[in-house]
Amino acid sequence: ALRPLVAGNWKMNGSKKALEEIGAMAEGYDATLRGKVDLMICPPATLLQLAATSALGTRIAIGAQDCHTETTGAFTGDIAPDMLVESGATAVIVGHSERRQYHAETDALVAAKAFAAIRAGLTAIVCVGETRAEREAGKTLAVVGRQVQRSVPEDATPEAVVVAYEPVWAIGTGLTPTAADVAEVHALIRKKLIQRHGKQAAGIRILYGGSVKPSNAKELMAVANVDGALVGGASLKAADFLGIAAAY
Ligand code: 13P
Repeated sequence: ALRPLVAGNWKMNGSKKALEEIGAMAEGYDATLRGKVDLMICPPATLLQLAATSALGTRIAIGAQDCHTETTGAFTGDIAPDMLVESGATAVIVGHSERRQYHAETDALVAAKAFAAIRAGLTAIVCVGETRAEREAGKTLAVVGRQVQRSVPEDATPEAVVVAYEPVWAIGTGLTPTAADVAEVHALIRKKLIQRHGKQAAGIRILYGGSVKPSNAKELMAVANVDGALVGGASLKAADFLGIAAAY
């Protein structure tokens, strides 16, 4: 089994006050989890630098939620991968379904963002996942397979890339796929990664995301080819986040 990663995506939530949770997460990690699992928190960009300071000397990594494809230029409101690195991030989420949906991000753009992130030395956490309509139409494997093929950059290695499978209908809804459904999709993702990136892609971590909570983490994390979790709502409080990491 790969070393698991439990990453928290705070989305557009959190404040300076919320950074206290990172301290509590670090304490809980040291007490019970050290050595068993990697932890990461991805706060909003405005909190990255402060979060990195809070996490200094702890085993909690800090990630960003998006980046631009270019290194500098006239792109008002955007943030370059090198700027994230300078803020203390070691990873960045790209292609989250909320970016794909609300910012019309395509697979090609997601791949370009991941490529730029890797070039800057960041780990790219590339998100994929089907909508409810796609699942009901029996298109899950076709959709996710295509997204993996087109959104994961050419130069994917276990150090540079993490893939996150997040069924859109499971995000923030309390609904989750069955363990068997998760196993089927993660096996497909693993197969696609190895086909395109070779044997070394067996080491790329594939996270499950979508309504992960302490109460369902053990079952979901026990599924074959599930190498950790990408957690939204339950990553905002140390107790919940540590409860999920305790699945390991
Ligand atoms: P929830 O855990 O709140 O369902 O969000 C999942 C997610 O989108 C993480 O990126």
